[in-house]
Amino acid sequence: MKESKPLIKAHFERLENYSFIGLAILTFAAAIALIYTYNQRANDDIRGYFDTQRGIYDELLVERSRRYLVMAMDKIANSDAPLESPPEELDLAYAFLNLGEYTTRFNCVPESLETIDSAREALLTRELPNSEIIGPLFRVLDCQQIVAASKQSDKRILATELLERSEDGRTFSTLIIIVSYSVALFLWLLQINHRRKIQLALAERQAWEERALTDSLTGTLNRGSLNQYLDMYLGGNGQPKRPISLLMYDIDHFKSYNDTFGHVHGDQALIKVTRAIQSVLRADDKQFRFGGEEFVVVTEVTDSTQLAALAERMLNAVRELGLEHPNSNEGIVTLSLGIYVAGSPPYEISDLLGMVDKALYQAKAQGRNQVVIRPAVPSTH
Ligand code: GH3
Ligand code: MG
Ligand code: MG
Repeated sequence: MKESKPLIKAHFERLENYSFIGLAILTFAAAIALIYTYNQRANDDIRGYFDTQRGIYDELLVERSRRYLVMAMDKIANSDAPLESPPEELDLAYAFLNLGEYTTRFNCVPESLETIDSAREALLTRELPNSEIIGPLFRVLDCQQIVAASKQSDKRILATELLERSEDGRTFSTLIIIVSYSVALFLWLLQINHRRKIQLALAERQAWEERALTDSLTGTLNRGSLNQYLDMYLGGNGQPKRPISLLMYDIDHFKSYNDTFGHVHGDQALIKVTRAIQSVLRADDKQFRFGGEEFVVVTEVTDSTQLAALAERMLNAVRELGLEHPNSNEGIVTLSLGIYVAGSPPYEISDLLGMVDKALYQAKAQGRNQVVIRPAVPSTH
């Protein structure tokens, strides 16, 4: 239970991180998609403008038509006698001017086409002198000039429009980037705030749990923790996970200490005694308040020599406090200590506590201020 908690916490936090990172990625993806779509549309427009059917290529056609017409007129003008056949440049000038867009958009174009046609007819029939045939063709040149000029102005408008569009595109992209960065920043701040709240809540919960497991006066672990610890230690089947020893100590003649100095001093003495005991324990040893002025220490030390040394250190630590106690045998506060080495399983919690209690009772019965280890270590003497 205790080990799985940080794991759950870590998973939870990771999930939170992912959701915020996910949102930030989505924001950037949306921004990129928007910019891409916008640019794609702009590209389509540009491609449209430069399409070979419309746009710039048209201009070439009208100018070509004009060039051929000039060539044709040159041929007609430079020939004194009627030509054998109309110059083919005249046909080309006609063909390059006969475009749907020109004929519908410029009124002069259908007329010009008719004029070219008439000139061709006249050249075929040879009824008119060359100079009279050329005359009307000058109006066609004018018309071609109008069309070319109009196309030039179209091109200028187009260029301005494209420039404006590309500027709009830049502004749009910048705006989208600023917005997406702002959203990501906002999400990041939200995440920081969220994590801070989670950490606060967890710290608060941890503090509550710690309070629930500790004794408020002495700061040692409490009776509930002792039960929980032994429960975990024994597992479901009463089989200890590893060998341990239980040390139960009780302050000698403490009732009379309270009677002499009062409960406030009694409390102070309890605090001093538990601290003195804690100072001689190893990091892994645990001290629990069993009730009143009785405490249980659980240690993995099971070797009898080491246990005897530990017990001696505990008793000495309290003796060295030198807490005056007129009604004790030594004149100072002392302890009686019972030790039970958990040896042959299975156990119930009550078995373990009962055995160590018996050892403590024996220490009291034998005159207090001493240690009794159970099971009894065979004497080497
Ligand atoms: P013994 O040597 O047999 O242990 O004698 P004792 O007087 O210590 O034993 P007893 O069980 O008769 O008295 C225990 C006393 O511990 C009673 C009570 O006044 C005192 N005590 C228990 N808890 C506290 C506490 O939290 N604060 C104070 N000041 N005294 C406490
Ligand atoms: Mg006592
Ligand atoms: Mg007692």
